[in-house]
Amino acid sequence: MPDRSTIFALSSGRPPAAIAVVRVSGPRAGVALEKLIGRLPEPRMATLGRVRDPASGDVIDEALALWFPAPRSETGEDVAELQLHGGQAVIAGVLDALAMIEGCRPAEAGEFTRRAFENGRLDLTAVEGLADLIAAETPAQRRSAYRQLKGLIGDRAEAWRRRLIEALALVEARIDFSDEADVPEDLLGPALHAAQQLRDEIAGVLADGRRGERLRDGLVVAIAGAPNAGKSTLLNRLARREAAIVSPYAGTTRDVIEVHLDLDGYPVTLLDTAGIRDSAEPVEQEGVRRARERAAAADLVLWVIDGSAAESGANDRPEKFANAEIWLVRNKIDQSFESACASAPKHPNNESQFSLSISALKGIAMDALAAALSAYAKTYFAATESAVITRARHRQALQETVAALDRALARDHSTGEELIAEELRAAATTLGRLTGRVDVEDILDVIFRDFCIGK
Ligand code: GDP
Repeated sequence: MPDRSTIFALSSGRPPAAIAVVRVSGPRAGVALEKLIGRLPEPRMATLGRVRDPASGDVIDEALALWFPAPRSETGEDVAELQLHGGQAVIAGVLDALAMIEGCRPAEAGEFTRRAFENGRLDLTAVEGLADLIAAETPAQRRSAYRQLKGLIGDRAEAWRRRLIEALALVEARIDFSDEADVPEDLLGPALHAAQQLRDEIAGVLADGRRGERLRDGLVVAIAGAPNAGKSTLLNRLARREAAIVSPYAGTTRDVIEVHLDLDGYPVTLLDTAGIRDSAEPVEQEGVRRARERAAAADLVLWVIDGSAAESGANDRPEKFANAEIWLVRNKIDQSFESACASAPKHPNNESQFSLSISALKGIAMDALAAALSAYAKTYFAATESAVITRARHRQALQETVAALDRALARDHSTGEELIAEELRAAATTLGRLTGRVDVEDILDVIFRDFCIGK
C-alpha cells in the first residue's frame, strides 16, 4: 500500500521572487487549505484569501488559492495551491504552518510527479518528457520534450500493446479451443499477419538514426588535431569565453573539455581533445586515448592544423573517425603567406572534405566557420523533432519487442502455437514496461531521482 500522507512543497524557484507557489497534495489537502485561509474555494477558481497561521491566528500573507478536488488534478489526488508573495519569511511561515497540520509532511524530490504516475495521470514516457521539458535548454529540445510529455511515444506504445494483445488472444483461443468444432482452424494466420505488421511498424520507428536521442544529447563536435595547432584557442573563440586552457606548450590539454552551445536554437556540445600525437609519457598517453575515443564518437570533427607550419607532417592528415564527418580547419593563417587569399570555405573537387582557413587567435574567418557550423546543425537536426525515440530506455524496449516478434514469426506454425503465444506475451510485456504499466519498480527510482522537490 503506497504512503498516502499529504505532501507539500515550494514548487516555484528559489526565493526571494515576486511570487512563490506552494502545493499540497493528498487526502488532507482540503483540510490544510481550510485551516490556512479559513474556507475551501470553489474548485478550479482563483480565490483571494488571507493566509493565517492556524496555531496563533497571525496573518502570514495574502494569497491566491486554488482548489483541485481529486481526481481532476495534476497528481490525481486532492490538490491545493497557494500563490504567495515570494519572500523567504512568507514561504517559511506557510511551510511551518503546513508541517503542524496532522497528516501533512514535506514532499520528497519528484513526489508529486510520482503520485501522478501512480494514479495513472501520466505514463512513464510522459514523466520522462516532463523531466526533459524542465531540463530543456534550446527551443528544439523543448518542443521534442513537450511532444513526449503529450504522449508521442507513450500513446503509440500503448496502441501497439493493445494490437499485440488482440493477436495474442487469437493464438490463445486457437490453443484453448482447438478441439471444438466451431473454432476456425486458421486463427494463427491473422495473428501472425498482425504481428508482422506491428514488427515492421516498430522497426520503422527504430530506424531513425538515433536522432531523438541526439537532440536530447546535442550535436557533438570534437576539435581535434596535433598539439599546438590552436584547438583550445578555437574552442574559446567559438564558446566566447575562456573554457579551455590555452598554452604555448605542447600537450597541456590532457583531458577532454566540454562546452555546451546553443547554435541557432540547436544544442551543440563542443569537445576540445588533448593533442592527438604519439607520446611516451603515460598521463599524456591516457589523454590521447580519451581524445581518440570521444572524437571517434563525435558527429563532426574539426581537424585543426597549423597552417603556418612550413611543411605538413604526419599529424596534418586527419585520422579516421568511425562515424564523424571531418572538416579540415587550417589555423594561424595570420602567419602564413596564404593569408591574403585565405577565407572562402571550399569543397575541393577531388575530395569530399570540407576545408577552410582561419585564425582563431586573430578572429579571421571565424564568421564563416560559425555560419558553416550553424548550417550543419540545421541540416543535422532537420528531422530530429519528428523522432519518436528520445532515450536509450525506449530504444531498448522497442528492440526487445521486435526481437520477440521476430522469434514468434520464425516459429513453425503447425507445432509452435504455445511458443508463439509466449513470444507475443513477452513482446506485450516489454511494451508495457516502456509506458510503466507492468513491472517497473526497478526503473522508477532512477527516473524520479532526476526531479527536484516540489515537482
Ligand atoms: P592546442 O594545443 O591545439 O589546444 O593549441 P592552443 O590553442 O593552446 O594554441 C597553441 C599556441 O598557438 C598558442 O600560443 C596560441 O596563442 C597560438 N595560436 C592559436 N591560434 C592561433 C592563430 O590563429 N594565429 C597565431 N599566430 N597563433 C595562434
